[in-house]
Amino acid sequence: MAKMIIAGNWKMFNNIQASIELVSGLKRLVTANPGCEVVVCPPFTSLEAVGNYLKDSPIKLGAQNMHFEENGAFTGEISAEMLLSVGCVYVILGHSERRAIFGESDELINKKIKKALSKNLLPIFCIGETLQERESNITFDVIKKQVTEGLAGISADDMLKVVVAYEPVWAIGTGKTASPAQAQEVHAFIRNLLGQLYNSTVAAAITIQYGGSVKPENAVELLGQPDINGALVGGACLKADSFNSIIEAASK
Ligand code: PEP
Repeated sequence: MAKMIIAGNWKMFNNIQASIELVSGLKRLVTANPGCEVVVCPPFTSLEAVGNYLKDSPIKLGAQNMHFEENGAFTGEISAEMLLSVGCVYVILGHSERRAIFGESDELINKKIKKALSKNLLPIFCIGETLQERESNITFDVIKKQVTEGLAGISADDMLKVVVAYEPVWAIGTGKTASPAQAQEVHAFIRNLLGQLYNSTVAAAITIQYGGSVKPENAVELLGQPDINGALVGGACLKADSFNSIIEAASK
């Protein structure tokens, strides 16, 4: 049975002071709702402060990106070791904003996933189709390519540490959410594909999060779908109350 995980992607929001304010609201609220795993992914500059603040709390720390090399002359990049040193447990990889704005390919994302796994950092591996791809009826082809190439060469044992986040690009930050049926259809497809690439035990155990304008008003219905095991939340995670409502929906 897959674990329910709610993760908040803060993107490029919040300096250190604002980060601590946000997480202090969560720490208070989340302690009372331990029904699912909760992850916060602040920007790099806030990771250490938030990590220290969250010590002894059930909330886990995640980063939003990392480089695939151990270290080296890669100006502006951050390594897996660096993330571990500030207390990260998770790292978001292949977010659609990284793919679209920073040109990340499936091959590059695959290297990052392998590096994260080799360091025992848990990847939140993002996939999803654009509006144009959905309207051209190639959603399943796109998802299949992203999954197959993103996970190439990853063993079944390592796969058990990967969280998959299905995020239709047209639903991210747009206020448009996939309907529960639309999301469930793709989640079932992903789980079935994982069954073919690995086996039925792995497929059943993998957390497949939905992401794309998840908010308190739609969380219960989305998270109630059989193949949706959590959410990757952008906009609605920037306010403690709305993120907490989503966590409550997941705990039900
Ligand atoms: C995201 O950034 O992963 C995301 C899903 O954003 P939003 O919830 O704002 O659509």
